[in-house]
Parts: sequence; C-alpha cells; structure tokens
Amino acid sequence: MKNPQDIPGRILEAARFSAEKHRDQRRKGTGRKPYINHPIEVADQLWNEGGVRDSDVIVAALLHDTLEDTETHPEEIRTRFGEAVLALVLEMSDDKRLPKQERKRLQVEHAPFISTRAKQIKLADKCCNVRDVLEDPPENWSPERRREYLRWAEEVVSGLRGANPALEERFDLLLAESRKRTEAES
Ligand code: NDP
Ligand code: ZN
Repeated sequence: MKNPQDIPGRILEAARFSAEKHRDQRRKGTGRKPYINHPIEVADQLWNEGGVRDSDVIVAALLHDTLEDTETHPEEIRTRFGEAVLALVLEMSDDKRLPKQERKRLQVEHAPFISTRAKQIKLADKCCNVRDVLEDPPENWSPERRREYLRWAEEVVSGLRGANPALEERFDLLLAESRKRTEAES
C-alpha cells in the first residue's frame, strides 16, 4: 500500500518526467499545443471525470505516450515509478515495428483483453483525442479523414466498455458532438 502522503509527490514527479521527455514535441492540431498538455489532460479526465483515485493509473496516464513517442527506456519507468506503472504504460504502447494500419487494427482487437486499469487510461485518451478532433484537429485532415478517425476510436472504445461508465458517457457525448461538426463541414 502506498503512503497517501506521497501521492502528490509521485504525480508531480511523473508530470515533470513526462514534460522533459516530450519537451521538443507539439500536438498535431493547428494550435500546435505543447505535447505535454495531452498527457496532463488524460490524467485530469481520469481524476475529475472518471473519479479515478488510483495513483498508479494517474502516473501511468501522465507517462502513457513516453515509450511510444520519445526515447524513454522501459527501465527508466520501472526504476522511478515501479513495475505496476511500467506494465500500464506498456499496455498503452503500440508495437512501433508494425505498419500504422496494423497497429490501429490491433488496438481494436486487443482492447477487450487489456487490464481494467489500462482500459480506463485508454478511455480517457480516446476522450481527449476525440475532443482534439473536434476543437483542434490535425492540420490537413479532411472531414472524411476525421470521420475515419472517429469510427476507429468508437470501435476501440466498444472493447473498453464496462471499465468506467462516467468516461464512457463522456466519450459518447464528445463523439456525437464531433460527428455533428464533421457532418456539417462536408
Ligand atoms: P493517426 O490517426 O494515428 O493520428 C491520430 C493520433 O495522433 C491520435 O490518436 C493521437 O494519438 C495523435 N494526435 C496528436 N495530435 C492530435 C490532435 N490534435 N487531434 C487528434 N489526434 C492527435 O494518424 P497517422 O497520420 O499516424 O495515420 C495513421 C493511419 O491513418 C493510417 O495508417 C491510415 O489508416 C489513416 N490515414 C487515413 C487517411 C485518409 O485520408 N482517410 C490519410 C492518411 C492516413 P495519441 O495522443 O494517443 O498519441
Ligand atoms: Zn495519448
């Protein structure tokens, strides 16, 4: 059992570690937000919308894109944040050796079989990405490309249902809003 008084310290350490790793990256949206905004938004969704109070989940949310998108070595995460956090971050990471289309297909296929804790992080991640598609879509994405992304996110989320009803409800609202917007634009 972790000491509850250490929880803010671990969360701040993870935010700092992740900010350092993502320091040269930007999101793909036209707003070009600093990348670190995204893991912070995912952790915030989990805590404030999903009611998640499990600090390993919040820490892993802050780190969820470090293995996939930065030079971070799994050992760094194990040493600083422990085995359980590393396992969650690995569950959130695609196999980068595979082509993108295949990675997307595997996310749909694997979603029902990941741990409940990883499902919660993935739900919050998809909420944030669908909201980004609504509010700050990647440059050069046509309405059709946005619709394709929304269809795929919906498929992934269908394999995550039951893990966190509040986040699922949030996802459904954001998806409906994003769909309405992309329909109006085409
Ligand atoms: P992705 O669909 O993988 O890009 C979306 C991902 O980028 C999100 O899941 C998110 O991942 C991240 N991201 C960063 N910034 C934003 C933002 N502002 N809004 C939403 N998501 C953001 O795109 P890729 O370019 O990597 O292409 C992958 C696949 O897309 C191809 O294999 C193909 O299937 C399809 N494609 C379709 C085209 C079309 O016109 N229909 C054209 C080209 C490709 P996270 O936060 O989790 O890291
Ligand atoms: Zn993400």
